Amino acid sequence: MKLLLFDIDGTLIRSNSAGRMAMGAALEQLFGSAGPLESYQMGGKTDARIITDLLVAIGVAPQEIEVKLPDVYALMAEKARAIYPDRGIAPCPGVSELLEELRNRSDVFMGLQTGNSLSTSPLKLQAAGIDPAQFPVAAYGSDDLDRNHLPAIAMQRASELTGFQVTGDNTVIIGDTPADILCARAGEATAVAVASGWHSYSTLARYHPDFLFDDLSDTPVVLKTLLGE
Ligand SMILES: [Mg+2]
Repeated sequence: MKLLLFDIDGTLIRSNSAGRMAMGAALEQLFGSAGPLESYQMGGKTDARIITDLLVAIGVAPQEIEVKLPDVYALMAEKARAIYPDRGIAPCPGVSELLEELRNRSDVFMGLQTGNSLSTSPLKLQAAGIDPAQFPVAAYGSDDLDRNHLPAIAMQRASELTGFQVTGDNTVIIGDTPADILCARAGEATAVAVASGWHSYSTLARYHPDFLFDDLSDTPVVLKTLLGE
């Protein structure tokens, strides 16, 4: 039994700044400004962290931000429904083939570990033609400010769903940023890095993931790696 936790942006799909646009539109409507959104480095951060940072920068009190976060997520989903279908969101190389292979395995439990919120994650996957129902367990960017807390949340949910004791020993975290690698370390899980997002192969190599790919297109090799064979 392996728990596979996939990051979304840059790993499963290319989202072409669609998430940034939806977040910006929601924050502008609710707070009159999205703060320093254009220059903000989102990669590897949770939506909760990003929204908090952007709003603190325009002087919104942290307590108010915490109270308003559910409204922000809901409005982001509304904006996403209008924005995502027109942004050319598509699977990263090899992802469709890999997911098709994994769909037929009984020894794998599929999950997401993403900085995206619960409200927008399924919309992003659907826009790329990926069925979100293929990932029964997930830890989202709306679950915690700190991405490093997400593996424990995902493993806990996977344990509850499967009845197995899911730990880092049987968990693989697949992501495209240094933050995903650090996150895997925090969860004592296997770190598989893929340079299909914003970060180059050589940048990711400096963080010493357990495995590193240019992309996920070599299906047999990627499958063996993920399954620990
Ligand atoms: Mg990513």
